Amino acid sequence: MDISDVSKLLVKASRDPVLRTGLDRGISSYWKKRKAVLERYPYVLDLAEEVRRIKEDSVARMEELVNMAVESVERQGGRAYVAKTADEARRIIGEVVGTGKTIVKAKSMTTEELKLREYLIEMGNEVYETDLGEFLIQFLKTKPMHFISPAIHITREKVAEFLREFMKVEVDKDDIEGMVALVRKFLRDKYFRADVGISGANVFSADGGLFLIENESNIRLSISLPEKHIAVVGMEKVVPTMEDAWKVVEVITRFGGYKVTSYVSLVRGPAAENDLGPKEYHVIFLDNGRLNASKDPVLKETLYCLRCGACQYMCPVFGVVGGFWAGLSSAYSGGIGVMWEYITEDEVQASYHAFACLLCGRCKEACPMKIDQPKVLREIRKRLMEKL
Ligand code: SF4
Repeated sequence: MDISDVSKLLVKASRDPVLRTGLDRGISSYWKKRKAVLERYPYVLDLAEEVRRIKEDSVARMEELVNMAVESVERQGGRAYVAKTADEARRIIGEVVGTGKTIVKAKSMTTEELKLREYLIEMGNEVYETDLGEFLIQFLKTKPMHFISPAIHITREKVAEFLREFMKVEVDKDDIEGMVALVRKFLRDKYFRADVGISGANVFSADGGLFLIENESNIRLSISLPEKHIAVVGMEKVVPTMEDAWKVVEVITRFGGYKVTSYVSLVRGPAAENDLGPKEYHVIFLDNGRLNASKDPVLKETLYCLRCGACQYMCPVFGVVGGFWAGLSSAYSGGIGVMWEYITEDEVQASYHAFACLLCGRCKEACPMKIDQPKVLREIRKRLMEKL
């Protein structure tokens, strides 16, 4: 894709009325929820400052903390791996999974970065996304548009149309509960049949705790019913201690617009010999450009990102084109998405996408980590211009 294709895609997205409806509904609902949360829990603003300091320290010590985390996983009976590249991560996961297996998968942007679902299906496995939004993304063959609300662009009208076709039943577009129940029933059988459950990580403590935040309980089912649990952890997710990790959990939750999320799972290893639960626990720590970025004075700021999605809801460009900003092949979207794309996917494409930013700085105001996206995106543009 060259730069003119990038602008054509953005103009096309901006004229899509279904996308606009979905974005308008999602964005206005988020701001109401965020206001209520920050009024009720004003202390999270100070906590966010503390978490920024934890992330700065963790990113500066990335290699050391990942080594500690590897030791912790192994000590607790799991298998740990460090994957330098996306290819290496896919190969490791492919070997652990094998072929002809049924896999239930939790929502994870890091596995999207690996195009893991597509890879495992290609290997001859059945893969089911179990987050409602990701389930729609999978079967409607689109991309996640937002860190927390991947299907923000899919209206209830579109969901009803899809379910009518997919489940061969009558569906009322205003019966959201009924639509959710249909998907829940479909997935229930998959959890019990699954050989492998795959998750990402919201945060990982170097002393050996994988933290997963959710509302639907699909992650709990995905990681506890199958015999094997595989977790894919971006190296920037590792913080020194469980105490630090709990602080990160709270900040992600609150800035995601939740007074409380229904579930926080803490995984420390496989089930003991005579206990129910997964007998195998594999953790893949993914580098894929993160370690280099941690040493870059400007790019390292990207790695402080908690993937709460607040900046995407605040951004005037995202509000018009949604996840089409960063293109269709990238897992990521929005200004922060372009920064992730630059580090983990394709520097040239990301540099083109960086030019869509208005540099208004509203994202920095919304961000709990106060990440200066305009500064990083300006630097990405400058590096492209120097290469031309
Ligand atoms: S850049 Fe900040 S606001 Fe945006 S997703 Fe990351 S932590 Fe959240």
